[in-house]
Amino acid sequence: MKRPKLIAGNWKMNTTVSEGLKTLDSLLVGLSQMTPKAQVAVAPPFTHLSDFQKKLKGTSICLAAQNVSDKLNGAYTGEVSVFMLKELGVKKVIIAHSERRQYYGETNDSALEKIKVVLKHEIYPIYCVGESLEDRESGHHFEVVEEQITSVLYKLSEEKLPKITIAYEPVWAIGTGKTATPEQADEMHAFIRDVIGKRFGDDLGVQMQILYGGSVNAANAASLLAMPHIDGALVGGASLKPEEFLSIIKAAS
Ligand code: PGA
Repeated sequence: MKRPKLIAGNWKMNTTVSEGLKTLDSLLVGLSQMTPKAQVAVAPPFTHLSDFQKKLKGTSICLAAQNVSDKLNGAYTGEVSVFMLKELGVKKVIIAHSERRQYYGETNDSALEKIKVVLKHEIYPIYCVGESLEDRESGHHFEVVEEQITSVLYKLSEEKLPKITIAYEPVWAIGTGKTATPEQADEMHAFIRDVIGKRFGDDLGVQMQILYGGSVNAANAASLLAMPHIDGALVGGASLKPEEFLSIIKAAS
């Protein structure tokens, strides 16, 4: 089955609005000179969303956010709600990125609440899973990822699953320059399809869009994206360099 490819840039806490707009301009110029086969998304910091929405009007780039509150409104200082994102044209949101899990105490339970809230308001989640170096070295990587899938996605009804993108991002590969080999990544993606399949049926397992993330760059993108179970990439550092991000987009055919 041919699944749609997605290349999403996670800008993390980088660039001011004016710097970000320059980067976005370069990306748009590059994209206007090619016909990308993959869907392209950018997830800049919250402060950029309003300006980016204006710039992206009429383009095929999808605006994404890096986080969202599981609450709808009220006394939650520092939080941003799904309604606020929706008004700014946000279509996708990254949920439970490993940096959110590691530094801000996010858990499988909070991921589930966030996924429920965004789906209810028609924003599509990119749900991040992935094991630490310790998990991999001790041979527990499949178990950890299985738990991240079963304790969150198993709690949703079947018709919600096709609206979710999973991003497999081994923590040891994020921002480290160390990438999972295409075989290691593909093996985990196939495993995730099996885990989904066990609960929801093989068809749904096969249908899920699963991205790889962790030090994806212009040099390694093609070999990762050529793997049968890899449907795109969640790109951090390299998404801030327009030339490099464009190369990654080109590699997705
Ligand atoms: P990286 O980040 O590409 O800089 O490793 C990926 C991510 O955290 O999504």
